Amino acid sequence: MDSSEVRWERMLPHQLETAFAACPAVYFPYGLCEPHGPHAALGLDALKAHGILLRLAREHGGIVAPPDYWHIHELAGYAVWAHENVGDVRPWLSALPPWQHFKNVLYHIRTAEMLEFHAAILLTGHYGPNWEDLQHFVELVQPYVRVRLYGLPDFEANHPGFKGDGSTADHAGKVETSLLWALEPDCIEIERIPANPEFPLFAMGRSAGESDQAAGEQMVADEVAWLARKKDELLAAFDPDVTSRLRSFDEVEQCWAEAIKPVLPEFQSMRPFSPDSEPPPPESRWHLNWQVGDWRN
Ligand SMILES: [Zn+2]
Repeated sequence: MDSSEVRWERMLPHQLETAFAACPAVYFPYGLCEPHGPHAALGLDALKAHGILLRLAREHGGIVAPPDYWHIHELAGYAVWAHENVGDVRPWLSALPPWQHFKNVLYHIRTAEMLEFHAAILLTGHYGPNWEDLQHFVELVQPYVRVRLYGLPDFEANHPGFKGDGSTADHAGKVETSLLWALEPDCIEIERIPANPEFPLFAMGRSAGESDQAAGEQMVADEVAWLARKKDELLAAFDPDVTSRLRSFDEVEQCWAEAIKPVLPEFQSMRPFSPDSEPPPPESRWHLNWQVGDWRN
């Protein structure tokens, strides 16, 4: 049995208790299956977030929660983006609307609270404005819990970026491809990047051809160092005297009803990315959920 195991789902109870006693921090990886070019596995975003958090836990302590491979897509600005960058092909997406995703995240936070973690980092490898919503969401939920929360897209921790050139984020371009190449080399077939690509190409980024595994390894190390500092800040800010109001399922639903549901229509992921966005044409598969007019939940 590997005593350095940090994946919650693969740990035995005595391993979890030992890891918790050493460092009461939990890390939640988020992403989805989404087109990332012909050369990268669909799950890039969550594979990336999970891989970075595993390294963080192994080197600096903490426990990595089971990755969540279902995330926001197909509506509003994401529909426009997909129409332009994916096109009308079978997309192999594992998409959820924002109200479903964030309800799930709220239950994840409730779990961290019930287990008495002091710090929780919620890391999304999937971009678009969902990361801004995540940060807003965490601010809204923090008053309900003792566990200190921080939500971010992995690129926030990616400095100084690809070979130090300041490139910290892209979609299946040199940054993301290099990160996955470093973390999960079995999930990349670099030779599938065409010499003269024609776009759109299953949402491949235009810089994918510049990808570099060693640059990916450096970016992983940089992100891990950044996240380790953030984890220490959160642990130091923990206050055991704060009242916990997110323990029962009823309290989760109450928090949702009073703190999240009223502001959900204002979340960025419910809107077009730009005010002058044209809707996908009616014959496009991306037209179906382009306009979301009903926020029942
Ligand atoms: Zn991605």
